[in-house]
Amino acid sequence: MDSCIFCSIIKKEIYAEILFEDDEIISILDINPMNYGHALIIPKEHSDDFLSTSSHLIPNLFLSAQKVAKALKSSLNPDGINLVANNGVYAGQSVFHTHIHVIPRYRDDGFQFKLDLKTYNDSDFLHFADKIRKQLS
Ligand code: 5GP
Ligand code: ZN
Repeated sequence: MDSCIFCSIIKKEIYAEILFEDDEIISILDINPMNYGHALIIPKEHSDDFLSTSSHLIPNLFLSAQKVAKALKSSLNPDGINLVANNGVYAGQSVFHTHIHVIPRYRDDGFQFKLDLKTYNDSDFLHFADKIRKQLS
């Protein structure tokens, strides 16, 4: 796709620090890391987001995320690792080419998901589950 920064990286038109690549996937260091080593796992075939990614690429996408997560663990010894995929502007997506963030986390790194958690009442619990289940069957 024209003017997609990740497509340009995949075509080696733009510099990126590549961790690994195969026929389907490239993994690079994020240019503005949450913590050093923050990696991105990117399918080479352009899709705007995770929902529109070809299903045949999903196994390798997650296998690659696991592979990089293990390499982060053994190289940087973080206390934890987040896997994150932002889908849509309101979910924080800024590059509209599918990618998964693999983020090393440390006990005192200060990042928090500041959540105002909701609770379900009994009928809502069933209502939302039914609504979603209908689309899965
Ligand atoms: P999103 O906000 O879409 O979930 O994540 C996009 C990520 O891509 C951001 O964390 C951002 O720092 C990273 N990014 C944007 N442009 C570039 C670039 O040119 N090179 C690299 N390596 N990362 C980039
Ligand atoms: Zn692209």
